[in-house]
Amino acid sequence: MTVELLQGAVRAYAWGSRTTIPELLGRPVPSPHPEAELWFGAHPGDPARVLRSDGTETTLLEVVDADPDGQLGARCSGRWGGRLPFLLKILAAEEPLSMQAHPSAEQAAEGYAREEAAGIPRDAANRNYPDPTAKPELVCALTEFHALAGFRDPHRTVRLLRAIETPGLARYAELLAGQPGPDGLRALFTTWITLPQSALDELLPEVLEACVRHVQDRGEFAAECRTVLELGEVHPRDAGVLAALLLNRLTLRAGEAIYLPAGNLHLYLHGTAVEILANSDNILRCGLTPKHVDVPELLRVVDFRCGDMPVLTGEPDGGAAVYRTETPEFELSRIDWDSDDRRELELDGSGPEILLCTAGELLLYDDEGTKVELRRGESVWRPASDPAVRVRAVGEHTAQLFRATVGTCLQEL
Ligand SMILES: [Zn+2]
Repeated sequence: MTVELLQGAVRAYAWGSRTTIPELLGRPVPSPHPEAELWFGAHPGDPARVLRSDGTETTLLEVVDADPDGQLGARCSGRWGGRLPFLLKILAAEEPLSMQAHPSAEQAAEGYAREEAAGIPRDAANRNYPDPTAKPELVCALTEFHALAGFRDPHRTVRLLRAIETPGLARYAELLAGQPGPDGLRALFTTWITLPQSALDELLPEVLEACVRHVQDRGEFAAECRTVLELGEVHPRDAGVLAALLLNRLTLRAGEAIYLPAGNLHLYLHGTAVEILANSDNILRCGLTPKHVDVPELLRVVDFRCGDMPVLTGEPDGGAAVYRTETPEFELSRIDWDSDDRRELELDGSGPEILLCTAGELLLYDDEGTKVELRRGESVWRPASDPAVRVRAVGEHTAQLFRATVGTCLQEL
């Protein structure tokens, strides 16, 4: 077993928590700055550090680059040009993120080529496609996690728009009622997201007041209205506040996950989660952020199909819960041990993987007598060339392990 302890890269975005990540890593709280994300991966923008048992340090990007076939396996390396195809993160959202969607593989390749040809530097603030690849993602709650994701069934949205009783919204409710499907949603979303500022300044205060009344009256859509108010408080003149009326309002419990394929419009609100995504930074934003917003480009990629978002709880498989998706770049599984549970599980060596301990204490060991202890917040890299290892909880506490690998659909090719 190659023992490569990873140290995640902390991303200090303003929406981050000052307690979650430092507490996970055993540092004093609150931290001086918000800490929003902890990246475990080989993204060139911020690769994880590799701490070797001989005391030397490098990055996971350098480790992979030095021997892509050995580290990733020939098949994975060939498929993704020598790059680790996934990125594992801890998300610690204290405040809402931006409203965003990600491109499909074809859209990403086309957008990347277009922006390269236009000579926009890859690290420029107005660059939409710094990477030529898609960015599907899956987010799995560690605490209660709140999000807006995917367009709600338009029939329900019509009921919501009528229930909050705003004269300014009446004609939009009727527009959607006359076309309660993807085309109607496209028309309404496009209208709202491109409203002139003067029209927004008239409509938004009216909508926010109506939401206050609906919350006070404990109306059917009080949770949705509370979220709109939360967004409106920070961004009172932003069209994204209106767009939030169209999306599913989700509360995930610990262990529940949602998969966000290309084109899914989403916004994370609050909570701690493990996120796995394809190793790409292609984000198209339509508002609720000081970052670069590109509405026309966003409209090219948004998928207006609608309905409830499936909530994944993980399929039982060999003692783990596996969050299966159609994505070849990644797969996430979760293993939980109760306090009296000393089960031993075998992790086969079928590809490159990152193991992240999110609770308790674990012991990894192999037939050659190599042992690694993994405490809460710690993670290891296992190259494809590594043989199978076994893992079990130690101590008296509950323990939890997340395992990030490439998608099963690729492993079985
Ligand atoms: Zn996203």
